[in-house]
Amino acid sequence: MTDFDIAVAGAGIVGTSTALWAQMRGHRVVLLDPAPPGSGTSSGNACTIATYGCLPVNDPAVLTALPRLLFARDSPLSVSWSHALRNPRWMLGFLANCRRGPSRRIAGHLADLLSHADAGLNPLIAEAGAEDLILARGQLTIWSTAEAARGADAGLARRRELGVRAEEITVAEARALEPGLALPIERAVMFPEARHVQDPERLVQRFHARFEALGGTTVSARVTATRAQGDHVRITADGRTLTAGRVVLAAGAFSGAVAGSGAERLPLGTERGYHLLYSGEAHRISRPVGWAEGGFYAVPMARGLRLAGTVEIAGRDAPPNPARLAYLERRGQEMFGTLPAPTSSWLGFRPTMPDSLPVIGRSPASERIIHAFGHQHLGLTLGGITGRIACDLAEGRQPNIAIDAYRPGRRYA
Ligand SMILES: Cc1cc2nc3c(=O)[nH]c(=O)nc-3n(C[C@H](O)[C@H](O)[C@H](O)COP(=O)(O)OP(=O)(O)OC[C@H]3O[C@@H](n4cnc5c(N)ncnc54)[C@H](O)[C@@H]3O)c2cc1C
Repeated sequence: MTDFDIAVAGAGIVGTSTALWAQMRGHRVVLLDPAPPGSGTSSGNACTIATYGCLPVNDPAVLTALPRLLFARDSPLSVSWSHALRNPRWMLGFLANCRRGPSRRIAGHLADLLSHADAGLNPLIAEAGAEDLILARGQLTIWSTAEAARGADAGLARRRELGVRAEEITVAEARALEPGLALPIERAVMFPEARHVQDPERLVQRFHARFEALGGTTVSARVTATRAQGDHVRITADGRTLTAGRVVLAAGAFSGAVAGSGAERLPLGTERGYHLLYSGEAHRISRPVGWAEGGFYAVPMARGLRLAGTVEIAGRDAPPNPARLAYLERRGQEMFGTLPAPTSSWLGFRPTMPDSLPVIGRSPASERIIHAFGHQHLGLTLGGITGRIACDLAEGRQPNIAIDAYRPGRRYA
């Protein structure tokens, strides 16, 4: 007999959702993480349940605008060239997927999964009694130059083609909705079906508390290796060993470090992102506002006003880049006119495959090891549905959603 039916490595939104789904279905579940639940990338994001977010960063515009994006002082994208040269497989794959055909195909696969996001997340919110953390006020996207506003046509058309509700509103309507915005507005689009979480870390903590209340076990340890043997998997975590019938690997950007899991051979990279927090300033807006040219969101959340976003292609070990934080601060001043000095700053690691699709499926190393990572910009949104799918797979069942596009062994470019 194994120690547990299901072991989950990683207690971010993806792993904790998986653990809660599995515990709700009556399994003996252990959740392993050296850090407190929800304290990783899942804590500092832009708080948005972004069911409209099917357009990948891999966009043809990235290729045409690359030189300007990379060298301009006001660019939301930055690349460490030494990191790119050390990781050519990820970088070249990422760029290859910016071509029109792959980019459109990826958007279709993301839209498919996003269409199930609420069905995966809402039962967990209800089970954990976390409705008070969720606000349903939509998301507002702003373009502040005529050129960028025109350039948004193709993306909006693709979203609508894929079933996303996107409502064009007038500049006056946008200003009436969010009078605190000071930036020029050329175009405004409302995504009415989006919701936001008042505090994503607290959401994961609520899921975790419910998981434990239902009898789940938490072990504070880093999983270093998994080895499938016959009818079980042996898990090594900080020197101790335990056994489980199935293991779900949900360690976000760090999933590739687990030996024997099959993830160590995948081209998992990271898009680093930042936030600045202005406590006491949440009243400036009433819903998440995305500034297209700025490449970040402003979000009113429980801890204050959070400016979160931008993409930095650099290693997980590199220190925080002060230039990226200065960029956010400067652009925040443009967005709101004036802001006090930020209260705190944060750097997080989006786990990203070269094709911007998550990895969800049975590992090539063993059908007893299930991969559930790589959710890039959408982990808060997709954690619940990923958890449900991972739980189906751990039970040896076929999910009722097509998941072939996300399988670990796919071609990434
Ligand atoms: C600036 C920014 C803004 C974002 N905004 C949004 C948004 O608005 N909406 C949205 O949907 N998504 C957003 N995202 C993306 C989202 O935050 C991530 O996709 C999501 O948090 C990934 O969750 P995760 O559970 O995979 O990883 P994490 O939250 O990083 O959790 C992984 C966990 O695994 C643990 N771990 C690591 N190694 C091991 C190991 N060997 N053994 C055991 N445990 C291990 C870590 O300690 C950590 O707790 C944003 C991201 C950033 C950076």
